[in-house]
Amino acid sequence: MGGEVMEPSRLETLFRYYAALGFERLAVRLPERKGRGRRRGKELSLDELRRRIGDCRRCRLSEKRKRLVFGEGDPDARLLFVGEAPGEEEDRQGRPFVGKAGELLNRLIEKMGFKREEVYIANTVKCRPPGNRKPLEDEIRTCMPFLERQIEIIAPAVIMTLGDVATRALLGDVGSISRVRGKTFSYRGIPLVPTFHPSYLLRNPKSKWLTWSDAQVVLGLLSGKRGG
Ligand code: SF4
Repeated sequence: MGGEVMEPSRLETLFRYYAALGFERLAVRLPERKGRGRRRGKELSLDELRRRIGDCRRCRLSEKRKRLVFGEGDPDARLLFVGEAPGEEEDRQGRPFVGKAGELLNRLIEKMGFKREEVYIANTVKCRPPGNRKPLEDEIRTCMPFLERQIEIIAPAVIMTLGDVATRALLGDVGSISRVRGKTFSYRGIPLVPTFHPSYLLRNPKSKWLTWSDAQVVLGLLSGKRGG
């Protein structure tokens, strides 16, 4: 029968035929939906990458970290958020954006019309810098291949960078975050929109509306890129 779509009347005739032959039940295998197969493939590739990173000791950030924070979300997400580095709570739980800044990011995600599990959230470096300092250039350089591979696997429709560290890591020196936020750049052909880091917004709540206007740019890009 292959991929043929059968008329209900033909289907009924077929069922009656098998019933006449004595079959009480028929096993039916539905074809796997294209999107589901693709998502599974990406999930396996991310698992493989996580295995490859292992108990990473490639840079000094491994010395003080409790848990490596790989990233989480839909492997086939259309929207990818990239932050800076795990903070104290993320380091404790092994999950990205779970502290106060995470709550703010969750609110932004929901306001944009998504559930957290429908997007993907990753950081520029996977281990917490001691005392929440910014990651150093050599630490970013060492960890970047992991983020690059994550982006390659997920292949999102749009990337939103949170703060200057993630923006510079993916785009190079394009200018301060307050100058480049809300503009559309390209990372290897994927539209990328920088905005403020949620930690900055916790300290400067008046800037939240700017991030919301940056989110509108992202939503505009996503609505122009349906499907996939
Ligand atoms: S920050 Fe990245 S490169 Fe450094 S130890 Fe952690 S996973 Fe490895």
